[in-house]
Amino acid sequence: MKIGILGAGQLGRMLALAGYPLGFEFVFLDPAAEACASPLGEHVRAAFTDESALAQFCARIDLATYEFENVPLAAAEFVAARRPLWPQPRALAAGQDRLAEKTLFTSLDIPVPSFVKVDTRAELEAGLSQVGLPAVLKTRRMGYDGKGQAVLHRFADVDPAWNRLGGQALILESFVAFERELSCLAVRARDGDCRCYPLVENRHRDGILRLARPRRHEPLQRLGEDYARRVLEALDYVGVLAFEFFAVGDRLLANEIAPRVHNSGHWTIEGAVCSQFENHLRAVCGLPLGSTAPRGLSAMVNFVGRAPPAETVTAIEGAHLHLYGKQPKPQRKLGHATVTADDDATLEARLERLVALADRWSA
Ligand code: AMP
Repeated sequence: MKIGILGAGQLGRMLALAGYPLGFEFVFLDPAAEACASPLGEHVRAAFTDESALAQFCARIDLATYEFENVPLAAAEFVAARRPLWPQPRALAAGQDRLAEKTLFTSLDIPVPSFVKVDTRAELEAGLSQVGLPAVLKTRRMGYDGKGQAVLHRFADVDPAWNRLGGQALILESFVAFERELSCLAVRARDGDCRCYPLVENRHRDGILRLARPRRHEPLQRLGEDYARRVLEALDYVGVLAFEFFAVGDRLLANEIAPRVHNSGHWTIEGAVCSQFENHLRAVCGLPLGSTAPRGLSAMVNFVGRAPPAETVTAIEGAHLHLYGKQPKPQRKLGHATVTADDDATLEARLERLVALADRWSA
């Protein structure tokens, strides 16, 4: 079976690494010459808008998926007309536009921060009186890792934010004084079987995920799973979906979905019975899903900007190093490590060493 992946970044690379033991082969389509999944399969190097390259890509594969949620919808539809493509383009459409996403959550009775569409300065003024301050102004499209957004603490912040972001389709949301950020990684098979991993608690710095810890005995687990299942079913979704929430007391407010495998699920490679990558491939290929149960205790730390030398990470007992083969660059995710242990005290001690290393080398 030859699987086509739109996008050839680290998520594509880890999908391929999970897929080879199952006998799959991979073809990637990505415009970047140095795309880090490239050594793991054939690489069609072309823009997502290049129809002859897309046709060439389709000719080489049995089915397709994507690892990048900003694949243009037209490219996904082009592929879907020629080969099975999962998740279906409608999931991509829902995840690409923050307004469509929040409207979907609301229609499914999933709580969200209050929000309004903002296309003009007048709509921003009207939105501010509706949503109040503090608030967050975000681009509706192409935002990731906190890019394309501005927090408005006071009225003096409004002009600079509008000068930076105005002129494109925007959304204004109330600022949520959350206690924690949690994500739910969920997977749905072609036959409708749905499974969720334990919710993950995520810590960001400068808008980039730094630390992800799967939760045990999480009181919000059932609620997170319930919301994730509503979205999976509404979209007739096939594959892994990541759902990000703000936790406030006993409530979860939906922030966003990513219709793909996700950084907050990397711990599942060593920390779950079947990883998010393998489960995504199982789902899109029509195989039965694997167990999403945790195996022991684990936590994941990202290496951003610069990665620590391999010998310093591997010297930590229970640490599993993943380097993506990318050139160092400030704020770029270059790799991660997952640390595993059998008991809490050991996990904390190992994690403390790993976090210190990641911080020392981050750029
Ligand atoms: P996003 O791109 O929507 O995931 O936002 C990136 C990060 O900005 C989130 O992980 C939060 O830490 C923060 N953030 C986004 N939206 C809000 C909000 N409405 N209230 C508070 N913090 C937010």
